[in-house]
Amino acid sequence: MRLRVLGGCGAWPEAGQACSGYLVEQDGFRLLVDVGYATVPRLLEWLDADQVDAVFVSHGHPDHCADLNPLLRARALRDDPPAPLPVYAPPGALDAVLALDRPGMLADAYTLHEITLGGRLDIGPFLAQTFPLPHWVPNAGVRLTAGGRVLAYTGDTGPSPELPNLAREADLLVAEATYVDEVPEDSRRYLSSARQMGRLAAAAGVGHLLLTHLWPGTDPAAAHAAAGDGYDGETDVATAGLVLDLP
Ligand SMILES: [Zn+2]
Repeated sequence: MRLRVLGGCGAWPEAGQACSGYLVEQDGFRLLVDVGYATVPRLLEWLDADQVDAVFVSHGHPDHCADLNPLLRARALRDDPPAPLPVYAPPGALDAVLALDRPGMLADAYTLHEITLGGRLDIGPFLAQTFPLPHWVPNAGVRLTAGGRVLAYTGDTGPSPELPNLAREADLLVAEATYVDEVPEDSRRYLSSARQMGRLAAAAGVGHLLLTHLWPGTDPAAAHAAAGDGYDGETDVATAGLVLDLP
């Protein structure tokens, strides 16, 4: 299993960077996990739009799904449109982004599968187990298993007893770490810090931690250090172009 980071900015894209987007490949199947602001220009540096096999969106915030629109346009408006793109997301999460164009214009470009949070489904070679995690809108953490490897992704989440289940002995945990140490009081139920995710990675026996969704302007070294207080495994901070092969 291979992960390619398209972007790791929380909230909005910084200069030359993109928001959440991760291309996960297994046996030639390309699953795009989240498709936030500015991820499609990054994706198109590596692939043609018609080479994406499926999309999984954790939740309906635009820093996780806004670029579904240009991805679908890039498929639908070509002379030889590919087959509809399977798109998996919590119920209603994509209503807004799918309404950007005139009704019907992109209808043949995708097949929407609204997922049951807490359920499991097959996406190409991946077994995807989803976990309802606390955020301002319904958020699906996802645990992808294929080829004997496990990649777990939190989406955006506050503390939850589900998190250790999501992350348990994952080869790679892609963890939202909007803040370095302390999450501000008004967001504490719905977002996390690098320090919290380091502790989670240690408790869950994670093999490799990838911190992502840092608030714009956050020092990646500070996030790395905060996670390292609780976790001594390999740790990276998500930035466009980073490729991780799950051994
Ligand atoms: Zn969010």
